[in-house]
Amino acid sequence: MRATEAFIPTLREIPAEADTISHQLLLRAGMLRKVAAGIYSILPLGHRVLLKIERIVREEMNRAGGIELLMPIIQPAEIWQQSGRWDVYGPEMFRLKDRHERGFCLGPTHEELITDLVGQEIKSYRQLPLLLYQIQNKYRDERRPRFGLLRGREFIMKDLYSFDIDEQGLEISYGKMYTAYSRIFDRCGLSIRVVEADPGAIGGGDTHEFMVMADTGEAEIIFCTACDYAADIEKAPCPVDGQPAAIEKQPLERVRTPGTRTVEEVAKYLGIPAMQVLKIMLYLADGEPVAVLIRGDRSVNEIKVQNYLQAIRLEIANAEDVAAKFGLPPGFAGPVGLQSQVRVLADNEVRHLANGVAGANEPDHHYRNVNYGRDYQVYAFDDFRVAREGDACPKCGQPVQLRRGIEVGQLFKLGTKYSKVLGATILDEGGKEVPMVMGCYGIGVTRTLAAAVEQGHDKDGIIWPYSIAPYEVVVIPVSQRDALQTNLAEALYQQLFASGIDAIYDNRAERTGVKFKDADLIGYPVRVVINDGSVVDRLVEVKWRNTGNVEKIPYADLCTYLRSKLVSNN
Ligand code: ATP
Ligand code: MG
Repeated sequence: MRATEAFIPTLREIPAEADTISHQLLLRAGMLRKVAAGIYSILPLGHRVLLKIERIVREEMNRAGGIELLMPIIQPAEIWQQSGRWDVYGPEMFRLKDRHERGFCLGPTHEELITDLVGQEIKSYRQLPLLLYQIQNKYRDERRPRFGLLRGREFIMKDLYSFDIDEQGLEISYGKMYTAYSRIFDRCGLSIRVVEADPGAIGGGDTHEFMVMADTGEAEIIFCTACDYAADIEKAPCPVDGQPAAIEKQPLERVRTPGTRTVEEVAKYLGIPAMQVLKIMLYLADGEPVAVLIRGDRSVNEIKVQNYLQAIRLEIANAEDVAAKFGLPPGFAGPVGLQSQVRVLADNEVRHLANGVAGANEPDHHYRNVNYGRDYQVYAFDDFRVAREGDACPKCGQPVQLRRGIEVGQLFKLGTKYSKVLGATILDEGGKEVPMVMGCYGIGVTRTLAAAVEQGHDKDGIIWPYSIAPYEVVVIPVSQRDALQTNLAEALYQQLFASGIDAIYDNRAERTGVKFKDADLIGYPVRVVINDGSVVDRLVEVKWRNTGNVEKIPYADLCTYLRSKLVSNN
């Protein structure tokens, strides 16, 4: 490609809308443009990166025994109603009606469709295992689309679904995908951490997430520095406290605490640490009131609560609900006397909190010296809190750390969750009808593209891994008006192209400084510069974007040299 024939609208200024580094750089490097919130056009340079990622994904899916197909983006409502997820997905699902008022959605994922398809076509255990995948647009009306391609409302996903006879078969398919994912991200030049995760709305058993470590990531990862334990904070279990402290229970005391609504305000007013306060959170779980008790210095892990209750939706109760469904005045809620009115769940840590402070269920008042058992009861104790740095590792007991990551892929063991409700059964070896055992495996292809930029950049621009760079090499003559230089540049460009190297010749009538800036911004791994000397001494300057190293290479050797370097590092 010659730059004068290309469409690479780079920007000097940082666009105001760009809220993260990958978003900024992809816009500035002329790879991306916004159409609406969370919806983008991927311009030609970005598209080349996308195709390279997709190619790696395809090769590894095929290597693992996957077979590619293509399902529709528009899916009928009935099948989602059959699986029970029409309601679960809630406002995140883009819904539409056809001219006959029939309901459809834009597919946020494809478990329903594929299970229905395979269920209709596959009847015998002899036809399994089956691994089917597609690379295609997904639609999710995210509450907060942001960070460019990292959280879009339209995005490209590779989704593979495995169908097996039994759990053992699923174990094998899952293992194949685990290996394939590791290879894919490795080949894409990304450094990854695999973590245990929560299955979320997809449901089912075991699940792992593949995370690109980056401070801008929206996922929080708890990991141990002493052993290999790593988990998404959504799932990370918290250790159960040992023995109760031997503290004498003081008599319950009602105190005035005017205007102190938050834990911090109460703690400050009474001169006690936040961990002495019993925080209470009021929720509606599928419309039913539930209170969750937690130590004042901790946060409720709503996913753990939701999973415990098997609730489809968990919302924080608003002031109206607090009055109508909990029978409480706004603020100053506490556990004393509450269990008789609503279900009270409590985090394990709360059990041993002696002489705590809690709301008195009347305005401007708290109780001091609140103790479990004597002053209040609960429906259940369990692990309902968010793990945090310094907690003991559930595997080895050493303190854990917290870092942020971008989830680029996820593996799920679905089991028979979908095959049962959608009637995807086979006859097993004994002639018995059994549901197929499924797994599903997603990679965010567009998110991977952005994650690569989050991981690879400096103050000047993007630093692409060689394997997914839009072009591997840019050729720049110092003077575009010097025919000797431009002839040599054109010849080298042709040679590179012929030897299978992705090269672009920046032949624009721009100053060299502008071309160098653009080359750094776009992040071509190699910059080949031709100057006056090159023509005489037959040497060109090769500069590596990732290390900044500069070398003089005889131009007769350029192709061989670059090919060996680029391939060996892929
Ligand atoms: P998240 O927790 O980030 O919302 P998810 O767990 O809902 O993601 P999955 O259903 O597991 O996502 O989808 C598989 C993959 O698709 C994810 O690992 C991620 O890489 C990608 N993905 C999901 N949502 C988005 C989005 N809004 N924009 C871009 N990629 C996404
Ligand atoms: Mg996920």
